[in-house]
Amino acid sequence: MQRPSVFRRLGWALGIRCPNCGRRKIFKRWFRMDKQCGNCHLIFERMPGYWVGAMIINFAVTAGAFLLMLIVGMVVTWPDVPWTTLTFVGLAIGALMPVVAFPWSRTIFAALELAVRPTEPGDFALDD
Ligand SMILES: [Zn+2]
Repeated sequence: MQRPSVFRRLGWALGIRCPNCGRRKIFKRWFRMDKQCGNCHLIFERMPGYWVGAMIINFAVTAGAFLLMLIVGMVVTWPDVPWTTLTFVGLAIGALMPVVAFPWSRTIFAALELAVRPTEPGDFALDD
Protein backbone atom coordinates (compact mmCIF):
# COMPACT_ATOMS: atom_id res chain seq x y z
CA MET A 1 0.00 0.00 0.00
CA GLN A 2 1.29 3.43 -0.93
CA ARG A 3 1.99 5.76 1.96
CA PRO A 4 -0.30 8.81 2.15
CA SER A 5 1.38 12.16 1.45
CA VAL A 6 2.03 14.57 4.31
CA PHE A 7 -0.68 16.87 2.89
CA ARG A 8 -3.22 14.04 2.89
CA ARG A 9 -2.23 13.14 6.46
CA LEU A 10 -2.60 16.79 7.53
CA GLY A 11 -6.00 16.95 5.85
CA TRP A 12 -7.12 13.93 7.84
CA ALA A 13 -5.62 15.47 10.97
CA LEU A 14 -7.59 18.69 10.48
CA GLY A 15 -10.73 16.56 10.28
CA ILE A 16 -9.72 14.82 13.53
CA ARG A 17 -9.27 11.54 11.67
CA CYS A 18 -6.67 8.80 11.91
CA PRO A 19 -3.48 10.25 10.41
CA ASN A 20 -2.59 6.86 8.97
CA CYS A 21 -5.80 5.75 7.22
CA GLY A 22 -8.29 8.64 7.57
CA ARG A 23 -10.81 6.81 9.74
CA ARG A 24 -13.26 9.07 11.57
CA LYS A 25 -14.12 8.91 15.26
CA ILE A 26 -10.75 8.29 16.87
CA PHE A 27 -11.81 10.29 19.94
CA LYS A 28 -14.32 8.88 22.43
CA ARG A 29 -14.65 12.33 24.04
CA TRP A 30 -12.95 15.70 23.50
CA PHE A 31 -9.97 14.76 25.69
CA ARG A 32 -10.12 10.98 25.24
CA MET A 33 -8.37 9.64 22.17
CA ASP A 34 -8.64 5.95 21.34
CA LYS A 35 -5.48 3.95 22.01
CA GLN A 36 -5.48 2.58 18.47
CA CYS A 37 -7.27 3.08 15.19
CA GLY A 38 -10.27 0.80 14.69
CA ASN A 39 -9.48 0.44 10.99
CA CYS A 40 -5.70 0.26 10.46
CA HIS A 41 -4.95 -0.70 14.12
CA LEU A 42 -2.17 1.88 14.42
CA ILE A 43 -1.31 2.43 18.08
CA PHE A 44 -1.41 6.22 18.27
CA GLU A 45 1.06 6.63 21.14
CA ARG A 46 4.06 5.21 19.31
CA MET A 47 6.57 5.62 22.14
CA PRO A 48 6.70 6.81 25.76
CA GLY A 49 6.38 10.59 25.93
CA TYR A 50 4.93 10.69 22.43
CA TRP A 51 2.35 13.38 23.18
CA VAL A 52 4.94 15.96 24.25
CA GLY A 53 5.08 16.89 20.56
CA ALA A 54 1.32 17.51 20.60
CA MET A 55 1.73 19.66 23.71
CA ILE A 56 4.34 21.76 21.88
CA ILE A 57 1.95 22.24 18.94
CA ASN A 58 -0.85 23.14 21.36
CA PHE A 59 1.35 25.69 23.13
CA ALA A 60 2.51 27.19 19.82
CA VAL A 61 -1.08 27.59 18.61
CA THR A 62 -2.08 29.22 21.91
CA ALA A 63 0.91 31.58 21.90
CA GLY A 64 0.26 32.43 18.25
CA ALA A 65 -3.39 33.24 18.95
CA PHE A 66 -2.38 35.39 21.91
CA LEU A 67 0.23 37.29 19.89
CA LEU A 68 -2.17 37.79 16.98
CA MET A 69 -4.85 39.15 19.32
CA LEU A 70 -2.33 41.44 21.03
CA ILE A 71 -0.91 42.84 17.79
CA VAL A 72 -4.30 43.31 16.12
CA GLY A 73 -5.71 44.84 19.32
CA MET A 74 -2.83 47.30 19.57
CA VAL A 75 -2.87 48.26 15.88
CA VAL A 76 -6.64 48.76 15.74
CA THR A 77 -6.90 50.84 18.93
CA TRP A 78 -3.60 52.77 18.77
CA PRO A 79 -2.81 55.18 20.50
CA ASP A 80 -5.48 54.52 23.16
CA VAL A 81 -4.78 50.82 23.68
CA PRO A 82 -7.20 49.25 26.20
CA TRP A 83 -4.58 47.29 28.11
CA THR A 84 -6.98 45.95 30.72
CA THR A 85 -9.32 44.56 28.06
CA LEU A 86 -6.42 43.06 26.10
CA THR A 87 -5.15 41.46 29.30
CA PHE A 88 -8.48 39.77 30.00
CA VAL A 89 -8.91 38.68 26.39
CA GLY A 90 -5.37 37.30 26.54
CA LEU A 91 -6.18 35.39 29.73
CA ALA A 92 -9.29 33.96 28.07
CA ILE A 93 -7.26 32.87 25.05
CA GLY A 94 -4.65 31.32 27.34
CA ALA A 95 -7.33 29.39 29.21
CA LEU A 96 -9.56 28.31 26.32
CA MET A 97 -7.26 27.77 23.34
CA PRO A 98 -5.43 24.72 24.76
CA VAL A 99 -8.82 23.10 25.43
CA VAL A 100 -10.22 23.92 22.00
CA ALA A 101 -7.06 22.89 20.14
CA PHE A 102 -6.50 19.63 22.06
CA PRO A 103 -7.69 17.03 19.51
CA TRP A 104 -6.13 18.85 16.55
CA SER A 105 -2.80 19.18 18.34
CA ARG A 106 -2.71 15.39 18.73
CA THR A 107 -3.82 14.48 15.22
CA ILE A 108 -1.59 17.12 13.58
CA PHE A 109 1.43 16.01 15.59
CA ALA A 110 0.75 12.36 14.76
CA ALA A 111 0.39 13.23 11.05
CA LEU A 112 3.68 15.14 11.00
CA GLU A 113 5.46 12.45 12.98
CA LEU A 114 4.14 9.70 10.70
CA ALA A 115 5.38 11.66 7.66
CA VAL A 116 8.87 11.86 9.16
CA ARG A 117 9.03 8.41 10.78
CA PRO A 118 7.07 5.82 8.79
CA THR A 119 5.19 3.07 10.55
CA GLU A 120 6.85 -0.20 11.48
CA PRO A 121 5.16 -3.55 12.12
CA GLY A 122 5.40 -2.99 15.90
CA ASP A 123 3.30 0.19 15.62
CA PHE A 124 0.14 -1.81 14.97
CA ALA A 125 -1.98 -3.69 17.50
CA LEU A 126 -2.35 -7.40 16.88
CA ASP A 127 -6.05 -7.45 17.75
CA ASP A 128 -8.88 -5.05 18.52
ZN1 LIG B 1 -6.20 4.28 11.00
